[in-house]
Amino acid sequence: MTDIIINIGYLISAALFIFGLKGLTHPRTAVRGNLLGACGMLLAIVITLTDQNIVSFEVILAGIVIGALVGLVLAIKIEMTSMPELVAAFNGFGGIASVFVAGAVLIENNLETTPPPLVQATVAIAASGLIGAVTFCGSLVAFAKLKGVVGDAAVLFSGQQVINSVLAILALALSAGVVMDPTSVFLYWLLVLVASALGVLLVIPIGGADMPVVVALLNSYSGLAAAATGFVLSNNVLIITGSLVGASGLILTKIMCVAMNRSLKNVLFGVLAPTGGGANADEVYAGRVKSTSPEEVALLFDAARRVAIVPGYGMAVSQAQHPVANLAALLEDRGIQVEYAVHPVAGRMPGHMNVLLAEADVPYESLKDMDEINQYIDQIDVVLVIGANDVVNPLARTDPTSAIAGMPIINVDKAKTVVNIKRSLSPGFAGIPNPLFALDNSLMLFGDGKKAVLSIITALKDT
Ligand code: NDP
Repeated sequence: MTDIIINIGYLISAALFIFGLKGLTHPRTAVRGNLLGACGMLLAIVITLTDQNIVSFEVILAGIVIGALVGLVLAIKIEMTSMPELVAAFNGFGGIASVFVAGAVLIENNLETTPPPLVQATVAIAASGLIGAVTFCGSLVAFAKLKGVVGDAAVLFSGQQVINSVLAILALALSAGVVMDPTSVFLYWLLVLVASALGVLLVIPIGGADMPVVVALLNSYSGLAAAATGFVLSNNVLIITGSLVGASGLILTKIMCVAMNRSLKNVLFGVLAPTGGGANADEVYAGRVKSTSPEEVALLFDAARRVAIVPGYGMAVSQAQHPVANLAALLEDRGIQVEYAVHPVAGRMPGHMNVLLAEADVPYESLKDMDEINQYIDQIDVVLVIGANDVVNPLARTDPTSAIAGMPIINVDKAKTVVNIKRSLSPGFAGIPNPLFALDNSLMLFGDGKKAVLSIITALKDT
C-alpha cells in the first residue's frame, strides 16, 4: 500500500514537472510554470522523506544543510554573467552524483548476501558510471574554459579522433564487463576512469564559439545519467525527471546548433568550427573607425522614426537593462518606434537577454527575433548595439574561414545608421575582429554600457 501511495505521489510530481516545463515555453505563463515545477520538486522531496526505505532522515538532513549552504554561497557570489560556468558546474555535479550513487549500490550489493542484482540494475549501474563520468569531466573542462582558467581555444593534436574512438570502445567493453560481473567493483572504477578521460578529450577540441552548444549537451548528458541512476535505485521520479532533463537538453542543443549554424554531429564528435584565417584587427579597423558622442547620438535619435536596440553580453556586464528600457520609453514618448532585436546566443546563456529585458519590464511584444527583424532591418533609421559583438559580426556571412562562419547574425550593417556601444575595439567571445565597426554607416560610442546609455538619456533630455 505504501509503495502505491509513494508511486502515485511521484507520478503527480512528474506531471507537475511536465506542466511546469510547458508553462516555461512562454513568458506569460513562465512564472506559473516555475511555480508548478517547484511544487513538483517539493512533493518529490516530501515523498522521499516519508519513504524511509531509501535513505535515513539524518542523511537527508545532512544533504539539505550542505547543499543549501553551497547553494547560498554560490547564489550570493556568482554574477549573472558567470551563469554559463555555474550551469556547467551544476551539470558536472549531477554527473558525479550518478557515478557515486551507482558505485555505492555496487559496493552494497557485494557486501550483502542477497541474490545477484537484475540485469536492468547492472546495465543502469554501468550507464550511470559511463555517462556520469563523461559528464563530470567534460563539464569541468567546459567550466575551466568558460571561466578562463584554461584558454578557450580548441586543443587539437594528431590522432585525437582515433584516441577518442579507442577510449569509447574501451568504455563500452568495461561497461559490458560490469554488466556480466556485477561483483567487480574494480571494473566499475576502471570504467569511471576511462570515461573521465573520454569526457576531457571530447570537450577540449571544442573551442570558443561552440561552447554554448557543449554546455547544453552536457546538461542533456547529466539528465541521462540521472535517469540511469533512477533505474539503479528503482526510483520512478528520478527516471522521469532525468529523462525530461535529457530530452530538453537535447532539444536545446539542437536549437543552439541551428542558431549557430553548427551540425550536432560535428559538435558531438568534436569536429571544429572553422578558425583562423581572415584579416587581423589592425587591417580591419585602421583609420576607418569613427567615434561619436552621446550628444551626437541624441541628435540621430531626434531625427529617427524607427529605432532598434540590439543587446549583447556587454549589456549584461554593465547591467544596463534598466537604463536601456528607460531610453526606449523616452524615445517612444517622442513618437519613435522602438524594437529590440534579440539573437538566440547573445550573452552567455540561452535566453540571457530575454531574462535581463524582462527584469527591466520591457514588454514581450517589443522583442523581435533575429529572422523577423532581419526582414526589414534596412528600414530601421538607427540601430543601437549595446555590448554585442559576435552576434552582429558580418564576417559570419562573408568569411568562410572565420570562427563564426555561417552563424546567422542580426544584419545591423544593413540598417541606415548603427551606433555601437562598447569600451574598446576588443573582440567578443569568438576572439575575432568585427568589420561592422569600420563601416561607413557605423559609429562607435566608446564607454561602459550603462554609463553610455545614461549619457544618451541626459543628452536627449537636453535637446
Ligand atoms: P560578445 O562576447 O561577442 O561581445 C561582447 C562585447 O561586449 C565585447 O566585445 C565587449 O567589448 C563588450 N563589453 C564587455 N563589457 C562591457 C561593458 N561593461 N560595457 C559595454 N560593452 C562591454 O557578445 P555577444 O552577445 O555579441 O555574443 C555572444 C557570444 O558568446 C557568441 O559568440 C556566443 O556563441 C557566445 N556564447 C553564448 C552563450 C549563450 O548561451 N548565449 C554561452 C557561451 C558563449 P569591450 O571589451 O570592448 O567593451
